[in-house]
Parts: sequence; structure tokens; C-alpha cells
Amino acid sequence: LPSPLGRFPAYFSIFIFGEQVEETYIMVKPDGVQRGLVGEIISRFERKGFKLTGLKLFQCPQELAEEHYKDLKSKPFFPKLIEYITSGPVICMAWEGVGVVASARKLIGSTNPLQAEPGTIRGDLAVQTGRNVVHGSDSPENGKREIALWFKEGELCQWIPAQAPWLTE
Ligand code: ADP
Repeated sequence: LPSPLGRFPAYFSIFIFGEQVEETYIMVKPDGVQRGLVGEIISRFERKGFKLTGLKLFQCPQELAEEHYKDLKSKPFFPKLIEYITSGPVICMAWEGVGVVASARKLIGSTNPLQAEPGTIRGDLAVQTGRNVVHGSDSPENGKREIALWFKEGELCQWIPAQAPWLTE
């Protein structure tokens, strides 16, 4: 058997045939944890073929929630949003893959779960914007920013999934 490490050297994790590998921050929000949807949500990204590089159960402090959602500070729902995100443990995840940022947003669905398409996480599992079970970064820049915000360096793990050659040419 050829060594997967030999066939997929480090530079393949940066570019796969010219397509850029991105990182995104995905979070199961407190309602998703309380409703027992953690496995269901993780499995959707796992089955799609993305690579998990960070994962933890975490009680988010107020300051971190405010920093994460700083662009929404002027919105009327901001205080309720911070209360929601800090109301119980969340599942923090870093995922990596070609086009993972936009693809994860598609898997997640529209912000308002009533407008989210069936087949998406919010479309299948949620009803209200204020309880929409999952977060996903909206750009590659924010993916990097949010992963750096929620994870310490030693908490992330680089590895080559055994399925790599069966996912991308
Ligand atoms: P998304 O999470 O889809 O990227 P936004 O960045 O617009 O959406 O908003 C961040 C989060 O703030 C939403 O996922 C939702 O939890 C909350 N939120 C957004 N709009 C509202 C609203 N009108 N009322 C209550 N909560 C909201």
C-alpha cells in the first residue's frame, strides 16, 4: 500500500489542483446542544467530506460572545443574542476543505429557519432566527479570525484523513 503521507505531502493541504483549501468556524449553539442535535449536525459536515481540525464543548464567556458578534453590536437583538450564545455550552469546531466556507453556509441554510430550504440544518431542525442551532463563518477571512478567537493553537490538529484520495482527484 502506498503511504498516504507520501502521496499527500503538506502542500496538498494548501492547494488541491489549484482550488484553495479554506477553514471555517462552525458552532453548535446552546439550543443545538440542549436539544441533542450535536451528532446530527457534526455528521452533516463529516459526511460531506470536510476535515475536522478542532472540536470542543465550551461554555462561552460574555466577552468572547461580544467579540465574536462585534459586527452586530448596533442591532436591537444584540443583547438577546449574547444572552442566547452564553446560555449553555456550545460545540466549537474548525473545519477545513476546498470551498468549505460557502459550502458550510449552504449546508446550514438561511439565517431564518422558516426560510431555510429543507435539507439544510436550519431548514430541517429549527424554526426561529433567535434559536437557529448553528453558526458558520461568512467568509474565509472570518473563518480564520473566528478559529483564532475560539481555539488556542494547541487545540487544533492537522492530519490527513484516510479517505482523502477518495474525495478529491
Ligand atoms: P448568520 O448566523 O446566518 O450568519 P447573521 O450574521 O445575520 O446570521 O446573525 C448572526 C446571528 O444573530 C443569527 O444566526 C441569529 O442567531 C442572530 N440573529 C440575527 N438576526 C436576528 C434577529 N432579527 N432576531 C434575533 N436574532 C437574530
